[in-house]
Amino acid sequence: MRSNEHAKADTSPAAEESSPITDADRYSRQVLFAGIGATGQQRLAAAHVAIVGCGAMGAASASLLARAGIGTLTLIDRDFVEPSNLQRQVLFDEADARDSLPKAEAARRHIAQFNSRVTVHARIADLVPGNISELLASAQILLDATDNFETRYLINDFAVQQRKPWIYAAAIGAYAATMNILPQTVPQSLEPRTSNLEPAPATACLACIFPKPPSGNVETCDTAGILSTAVNLAASIQVTEALKFLTGQSHLMRRTLLSFDLWNPAPASSNPASNYIDRSEISAAAPRPGCEVCGQRIFTHLAGENRAHITLCGRDSVQIHEHHRPVDFAAMRARLATHADIRDLRSNDLILRFRRGPHTVTLFADGRAIVQGTTDITVARSLYARFVGA
Ligand SMILES: [Zn+2]
Repeated sequence: MRSNEHAKADTSPAAEESSPITDADRYSRQVLFAGIGATGQQRLAAAHVAIVGCGAMGAASASLLARAGIGTLTLIDRDFVEPSNLQRQVLFDEADARDSLPKAEAARRHIAQFNSRVTVHARIADLVPGNISELLASAQILLDATDNFETRYLINDFAVQQRKPWIYAAAIGAYAATMNILPQTVPQSLEPRTSNLEPAPATACLACIFPKPPSGNVETCDTAGILSTAVNLAASIQVTEALKFLTGQSHLMRRTLLSFDLWNPAPASSNPASNYIDRSEISAAAPRPGCEVCGQRIFTHLAGENRAHITLCGRDSVQIHEHHRPVDFAAMRARLATHADIRDLRSNDLILRFRRGPHTVTLFADGRAIVQGTTDITVARSLYARFVGA
């Protein structure tokens, strides 16, 4: 039916229809790396990773994992692509920003262009206590690519409760930080390959190290700016640690909070000829005695209240998610068109957007809205109530 050359290739229906690229070609250099090998590559193909947030960190980590051949990715993001994202968010292009495409969906489409074999679940949603189990339960490991400690504490509660590993990562200015949070037990199927190694004991959790959000947390990428390189460094380390876990080598994972300042040399460097990069590493090898979360197993963020409004990082905007219910964009659009003070009304399958005075309202299909042009919750709420509906 085909030439000999084709007969040797993967003859599954999907491969015949779409692409002559074989896994043997695609992953040849990664399989050569002794830490991965053929067995590791097979494990990656069977793996499922969830990434919370699909901004700069999430896009970089998703891109690296998809290229590495992770079988299934769940990408969760509540936001849409804007022009100011293009400086660092490596999965998005100018058309995505023009169309205000939700980031999770834009990432799914771009990944499909370079690795169509990866299954990507794009979830346009805000991670909250009510949906966290549905969104994260089926993933083997969770990657933090959020921009706020509130969501990180929620992930930490869930991960500690479910004994699921997760990897904290953060970047601001030229600063990058990351830490592995490993639960008390690793799943049986992912025990270290070397049979004489015991599964490692639990590391510290996020609340062991940061019982309260760190004081530097008042700065956001809105006030301090951000270097794309700092985000990509944190994402690279985060994904490398995830690859160790997914190939059954959790005994190689770091048990520290590691941070870098990529711009300024280390202050302790007395010899001007050796400006060392400013790097710090503190132990997170063991839980802090008495930790409320991993010690006492009190999960206040998972019990979650008062999460109705969140001011987003990087913009003058407020998110409203009081009314989780599907929105009929066609009916909404017809109704909004009758308001004389509404401008630039447009919609597609995923979002509806309009301007009113200095504010831009972007409505998602699940009833969530992002109001740009204010940080005043009262203003945002009244716009939402008046135009979207109470
Ligand atoms: Zn803890």
